[in-house]
Amino acid sequence: MNPPLIYVDIDDVLAESTRACAEIARRDFAKNVKFEEMSVFDLRVSLSLAEHEYEDFMNAVHTPRFLEQLPVVRGARKTLGQWIRGGAEINLLTGRPPSSQPSTLKWLKKNTIPYNSLEFVDKYNRHANQGAIPLQELNGRTYDFVIEDSFETASYLAKALNTSVLLFDRPWNRQQTSHSSSIERVHNWAEIENRVNFR
Ligand SMILES: [Mg+2]
Repeated sequence: MNPPLIYVDIDDVLAESTRACAEIARRDFAKNVKFEEMSVFDLRVSLSLAEHEYEDFMNAVHTPRFLEQLPVVRGARKTLGQWIRGGAEINLLTGRPPSSQPSTLKWLKKNTIPYNSLEFVDKYNRHANQGAIPLQELNGRTYDFVIEDSFETASYLAKALNTSVLLFDRPWNRQQTSHSSSIERVHNWAEIENRVNFR
């Protein structure tokens, strides 16, 4: 049997990114939006950022200083460590711009996150010509599990890769329900650990 192959997203699955984004929006852009009220994936919409504010905001949340201080989602490190010790291969696939690779690697090292590989995927059609892998290039990969918080990415992967997707429950994916039996909602890493049983 091949070792289990697991796809793990970074932002809002491994890192508490959007809570920190909301804090920047509050502090620097006077947008007082509670995390639980962020009911759409697009930060421009959920944080009510005007067109002229959006670019500055996106720059602010991709600085090394911001990315390197993000807290780790509770329980993630322990579960990834158990999986790797159990023979699994962990692929981290992030929708961040490829330019954030040095900060992302630093964050992974600083937080001693166990993983096997890191790839930058153009999940949201944002990083064309920046060196990110097009989402369609993942077709044909045989992940045993995909862990994502983006409903659109989760839906695409469930269908295109015919794989089991664990959708990490977040305010922006709560109103989206899938009729696919391949997508299952999970709320924390303890649930994910129980669900992914490959031994
Ligand atoms: Mg994410």
